[in-house]
Amino acid sequence: MPVKLFADNKRPIQALLLDMDGVLYHGNSLLAGATALLQRIKTTRHLFLTNNPRRTPEAVADRLEAMGLPRPDPTQILTSALATAEHLARLKPGFSWYAIGEDGLETALLAAGGRLDAQQADFVIVGEGPGIDFDCLTIAINLVLKQGARLVVTNPDASVDDQHEGEHRVLPGGGALVAPIAIACEVEPWVIGKPQPALFEMACARLDVEPADCLMIGDRPDTDIAGALAIGMRAALVRTGRFGPDASWPAGLPRPHWDAPDLPHLLQAIEPWLP
Ligand SMILES: [Mg+2]
Repeated sequence: MPVKLFADNKRPIQALLLDMDGVLYHGNSLLAGATALLQRIKTTRHLFLTNNPRRTPEAVADRLEAMGLPRPDPTQILTSALATAEHLARLKPGFSWYAIGEDGLETALLAAGGRLDAQQADFVIVGEGPGIDFDCLTIAINLVLKQGARLVVTNPDASVDDQHEGEHRVLPGGGALVAPIAIACEVEPWVIGKPQPALFEMACARLDVEPADCLMIGDRPDTDIAGALAIGMRAALVRTGRFGPDASWPAGLPRPHWDAPDLPHLLQAIEPWLP
């Protein structure tokens, strides 16, 4: 399957945003071309973007290094937890929160100046990870219904891929985990991660580039591609993750600029646009 180029695009690419799972690795295995891509863009501005809110940027950097990639600086890693914390801090500086999630989320909320308050929270924030139980759902539901807390979810993914003792498994994503609270309270949660603009906007601000000068490389049409195109970035799909080589394009979703079977083919195709 050759790379398909769908849109006329003459402008050079000045910065790259890389999704990780399904692009650089799958499970715990590096994907073909990941090392070559990072080598090629070493002197080009780039960031790693993930909807996964569980790990801190430091932990994500360690994981990339453990898989054999050069360790990025943690400031190059943007998670949906960081985007959520930054977004809420901008809306309400010093906000109070109650969160259901892991380290990556709590660390980001504290770093953004948020204050944990399970009695009187401005926001109930749902991320991903183990430990969601009847008690924390009850606290969350009562904060929304009785205190008027706003329900927020770090990312909309229904499910996410994972590797456990060498076997692939599927875990519930933020979209699934926020559902019990949303249903109990009859409210729609605010969604922060891809395809919403917050994570992409944070990336542009951090790199000091315009969306039109950025290329987003991702493996999911509904989040990576749709979100990047919506804010005016260029987008490239690699079919090495959730969306396989034979999958037909989902109805109603916009096509990316490049649609490639894998990173080696994509790298060859985008070469003329790279600095
Ligand atoms: Mg992915």
